[in-house]
Amino acid sequence: MRSCKEIAKLLVPGHKLTLLQKMGIKLHLLLCLACARFSKQLKILGEVRKQQLGQKTLASTTHTELLEKKIIAEMTNKKSSS
Ligand SMILES: [Zn+2]
Repeated sequence: MRSCKEIAKLLVPGHKLTLLQKMGIKLHLLLCLACARFSKQLKILGEVRKQQLGQKTLASTTHTELLEKKIIAEMTNKKSSS
């Protein structure tokens, strides 16, 4: 099974995934609550971004990007110490 770090990277929008990778992600999301939640957050951010693009509010799009990066950074840099 892939690690959470790998899955988080693959979940980032714009990533081209092979069928095998997609299947790996689906399997992982079924078993891992943290990554399932992360995937959900990315989806919500994607929706927000779409709405903002529709309204042409570029300033808040940048804000959404920052938020997205923050979430991704949190997922990928998470230390298992806590
Ligand atoms: Zn995971």
